[in-house]
Amino acid sequence: MNRSQGITVLGATGSIGVNTLDVVACHPERYHVVALTAHRQVDKLFAQCLQFRPLLAVVADAEAAGQLQQRLRDAACPTEVAYGEAALEVAATLPEADMVMAAIVGAAGLRPTLAAARLGKRILLANKESLVVAGELFMRTVRDSGAELLPVDSEHNALFQALPASYDGNLDRNGIEQLILTASGGPFRRRDAASLRHVTPDDACNHPNWVMGRKISVDSATLMNKGLEVIEAHWLFNAPADRIDVVVHPQSVIHSMVRYKDGSVLAQLGSPDMRTPIAYAMGWPERIAAPVKALDFLALSGLTFEAPDLQRFPCLRLAFDALRAGGAASAVLNAANEIAVEAFLQQRIAFLDIPDLVERALQMQDLSACHELEALLQRDADTRRLVQAWVAA
Ligand code: NAD
Ligand code: MG
Repeated sequence: MNRSQGITVLGATGSIGVNTLDVVACHPERYHVVALTAHRQVDKLFAQCLQFRPLLAVVADAEAAGQLQQRLRDAACPTEVAYGEAALEVAATLPEADMVMAAIVGAAGLRPTLAAARLGKRILLANKESLVVAGELFMRTVRDSGAELLPVDSEHNALFQALPASYDGNLDRNGIEQLILTASGGPFRRRDAASLRHVTPDDACNHPNWVMGRKISVDSATLMNKGLEVIEAHWLFNAPADRIDVVVHPQSVIHSMVRYKDGSVLAQLGSPDMRTPIAYAMGWPERIAAPVKALDFLALSGLTFEAPDLQRFPCLRLAFDALRAGGAASAVLNAANEIAVEAFLQQRIAFLDIPDLVERALQMQDLSACHELEALLQRDADTRRLVQAWVAA
């Protein structure tokens, strides 16, 4: 490849965003940054603008935009500043951007990611909630526009690597029996059910193998993250729920596996470092270097596996149920979970209230299918309001 590729990073100041810019910085001749977005972390975004000189930087509101603009002007940095949801879509659709890293957390990432998909860009998808909320619509948009959808979530990136290069969304025709998602089990893998009552947000965010944003860290502790990933795998690879398995593998060395009908199992291994799947998605179909530690087999104490405990971690079961129910169930599951996790992080509810609130939302809400974006977002908003009211009660 000769021409430098332009990349927009949505959610640049988050854990995935920072790792993405790390990979970009390793390949200055190959990539340049077109736009960066953040919510309210002006300091971090300012530093990133100075380093990467994007055309555009986007923040949440006028106040943050004013601060950023002033500092950029003082530093003689020509980056333009914009704010608000519409500006996120502008960042995602700039003609200079060949690829868009979708690394906003939660359903807030859906609109800009979908906008990039409509334009047929390469989407590096970390924001799994986009697919959980709007899988059907999202995949239809990708198909219609000819966008390239490259999974960044480590499990799905591993599956993508272990599937045939010509995989066309048909498990049987490709001789595939099962997709096996590995799960670390999270920080509470060994805690008994009673002690889970009293865990704090900091306990939940203290993940054994990965350093991540707080929302996904809580999701990893409840195993909702694995549930969202089952739904994500369903849409990415056209796999029904009963062909997707989850196995707990505490060392996080095998990132996921494909079981073929002849008995072969293909796995992708590596150090638990998101810069590997990010670099794979950026470079595909080529392999580019990533600043990660080589996996040292001799330093591994062993690879172990166990079944997930659906009694202690009901969120995984709820996600499987939502996938099987179809319609808007996954969108309702996601919206309820986002509100519950936020309330837990603010210490307004207990850890075990999270699955309870999600289950209640799935029982109370209309789960019928919404085929258009606005209807889907309305269901998302209705669910949030309902769960907010339960939290406040
Ligand atoms: P994070 O909380 O560290 O970062 C989130 C980013 O999104 C920040 O830049 C923040 O400013 C921005 N943001 C937050 N709310 C926003 C809003 N309402 N509007 C616009 N921007 C907003 O999160 P993260 O850990 O980097 O995760 C990002 C996404 O990637 C999530 O969907 C997560 O599930 C997925 N993911 C993360 C990891 C990981 O290792 N961190 C692994 C796999 C998938
Ligand atoms: Mg993952």
